[in-house]
Amino acid sequence: MQTQNLGYPRIGGQRQLKKACEQYWAGNIDLSDLQKTAFKIRQENWQTQLQAGLDLIPCNDFSFYDQTLDMSLMLGAIPKRYSAVLTEVKSNNETDLYFAMARGYQKNGLDVTAMEMTKWFDTNYHYIVPEFTADQEFKLFSEKVFGEFVAAKAVVGDKAKPVLIGPVSYLLLGKEKEEGFDRTDLIKKLLPVYVQILQRLQQLGANWVQLDEPFLALDLSEKEKATFTHAYQYLKKEVYGLKLMVATYFEGLLDNTLLALNLPVAALHIDLVRAPGQLEDVLAEIPQNLILSLGVVDGRNIWKNDFENSLSFISKALEKLGAERLIIAPSCSLLHTPIDLDAETGIDPEIRNWMAFAKQKLDEVVTLKKIASGDTSLLNPNGEAIKSRRTSNKVHSKKVQDRLAALNVADVERKADFKTRQKIQKKRLNLPAFPTTTIGSFPQTDDIRQLRAKLKKGELSPEAYDKAIQNATIEIIRWQEAVGLDVLVHGEFERNDMVEYFGEQLAGFLFTKNGWVQSYGSRCVKPPVIYGDISRTNDMTVRWSQFAASQTDKWMKGMLTGPVTILQWSFVRDDQERSLTTNQIALAIRDEVLALEKAGISIIQIDEAAIREGLPLRKAKRADYLQWAVEAFRITAGGVANETQIHTHMCYSEFNDIIEHIAAMDADVITIETSRSQMELLQAFAHFKYPNEIGPGVYDIHSPRVPSAKEMADLLEKAAALLPAEHLWVNPDCGLKTRKWPETKAALENMVAAARQARAHIMI
Ligand code: GLN
Ligand code: ZN
Repeated sequence: MQTQNLGYPRIGGQRQLKKACEQYWAGNIDLSDLQKTAFKIRQENWQTQLQAGLDLIPCNDFSFYDQTLDMSLMLGAIPKRYSAVLTEVKSNNETDLYFAMARGYQKNGLDVTAMEMTKWFDTNYHYIVPEFTADQEFKLFSEKVFGEFVAAKAVVGDKAKPVLIGPVSYLLLGKEKEEGFDRTDLIKKLLPVYVQILQRLQQLGANWVQLDEPFLALDLSEKEKATFTHAYQYLKKEVYGLKLMVATYFEGLLDNTLLALNLPVAALHIDLVRAPGQLEDVLAEIPQNLILSLGVVDGRNIWKNDFENSLSFISKALEKLGAERLIIAPSCSLLHTPIDLDAETGIDPEIRNWMAFAKQKLDEVVTLKKIASGDTSLLNPNGEAIKSRRTSNKVHSKKVQDRLAALNVADVERKADFKTRQKIQKKRLNLPAFPTTTIGSFPQTDDIRQLRAKLKKGELSPEAYDKAIQNATIEIIRWQEAVGLDVLVHGEFERNDMVEYFGEQLAGFLFTKNGWVQSYGSRCVKPPVIYGDISRTNDMTVRWSQFAASQTDKWMKGMLTGPVTILQWSFVRDDQERSLTTNQIALAIRDEVLALEKAGISIIQIDEAAIREGLPLRKAKRADYLQWAVEAFRITAGGVANETQIHTHMCYSEFNDIIEHIAAMDADVITIETSRSQMELLQAFAHFKYPNEIGPGVYDIHSPRVPSAKEMADLLEKAAALLPAEHLWVNPDCGLKTRKWPETKAALENMVAAARQARAHIMI
């Protein structure tokens, strides 16, 4: 029996890589400094894994920015617009070209945009999308993988296992940048380069190469399936004697089981955390000689492995395959977990004993092998930790569970239908046509963040902090009044982050000091941990909303984060269904909604920024998810009076496949991101005849650019051609937190002017 790891976090225990990259981009350190930092992180990672006792240790899992971008550079899939950059940096090095592809390039008269970035499957990690053209060619360009393999070999010897994204998943991760071809057809041109890379790795002494093919666990077309078969038959023919391991994760093989099992490779890795049920199918059909890697330790979460449960899988496989054909592994790359629990000294020790970060997960993998090989004495402490979590009253609250069980249909329904509510609200709120508002936050400048840092360090008293936040709030209220916005916001200056702010005030959450995970490039996030039944012990936003409302005669919107978004951006419990955790959060938010209403707040926005990204990878699971996600929103909003206007906000735009569920949320007003697509995205709403009010973003907040009033008025005209004008609101795409003041103010002044033009010109 062997053990392996599929990938290790590369940001460094103190986020050294982030800091070094940002220093390099700012021109404060030179390339050799950056490379030194990277070198050290890799060496440390290999040492850590060697010491843990793993048999196969990944290399080339390091990346300065993103592993998919590494692949594009290796395969020479460099979009043509970078050729000028290429010439300019050639004398220098490929790293600058690489960063130009990741971040764009504005230097020496060149102005080249970055490549697109999107979410890596259902994680919060973002990858750089490969761009393909009809005449796409591939050739070996970056030699990074060879260098890293040689370096790894020097540290871990024969255990070094280079990791690449497999050829089919690489193509599927990309995008056709022009019409008239299908990217899977590029496989013919791509495979010879893979052969060249694999042969070279073999010459350098590699025994194993891991090829990640996560798409094997997703819905595939017949053509895609055939592409997999073709690709691996080709590789088998051309590369002789090198052991290839195909890694799948994040879902089960299901209908692709036979396809995956019959690829002519040496080993297959499956994710038994996400899809435990697939083991039986795989064992039933597995061909002779294929080695199976069991992903039993969760690479996506921070909980200690339940050894007994993992061993039940291992022994089943052992019985059928024998020890020689078995590898024990984490479910996927550990990229998605924080690095080291030992660094977390502030967590309640009882709860900490239930957790494991990347480093601890390596030990779990190795311990599982030892137990499976007969050393059962290692079972005990684990069993006790698992039991303690299962029974702890820090986790389980009867009160929360009873309350959820008692919830009934009437609780999730608004009292009247939308049309009735709309009439009542229109009368009460008395807003002009095309009412203007913003999504919640105003620029969070360094001064505001400094205040929080000082408060934390004790350098600022809570009173002084409050006073400073109050002043910022008053100032932005006065400004909104002066500009003529119709529905005001308080600016969210008191909030660090839209999830953390709530998590910190809810029972059932904990926060780490150093639990960073890479989100994209040098950006890291520190997701809260949901460990127990969630309840709200106090008002969370009432004080600030009430304060803000008291400062103006205009309507002041209350601002909350929705349950699915809080769930999506946290490490969640693995001992109960996600839907159940979401409903607990929903009840807490519902209470906050009602408290706001009671405090006189008549318009309440519940942000559900992440509903779409929670969509399951397999289509067959989506309906169920959407059903409970929508239900959770309805729990939050279902208790208010007809007079109270509920808004929701979503910061993305592809609604085509989920529009009926968005409608089922039954928010009185929804604001969405539409400005970049020139209102094209409203088609889905128009086609569906979306019944409620809607604020299509007219101001792209992802750019410092100030749109003119005319530009935004034109967008409103487009929107009014698609949807009833009396349903339209006027607002930016999203919150303004990351923007600078001057551009924000100028853009919002123009936005109010655009609304005035619309009122004058568009018939209602
Ligand atoms: N209310 C939040 C804000 O304005 C919404 C942010 C978001 O949608 N990501 O910051
Ligand atoms: Zn948003």
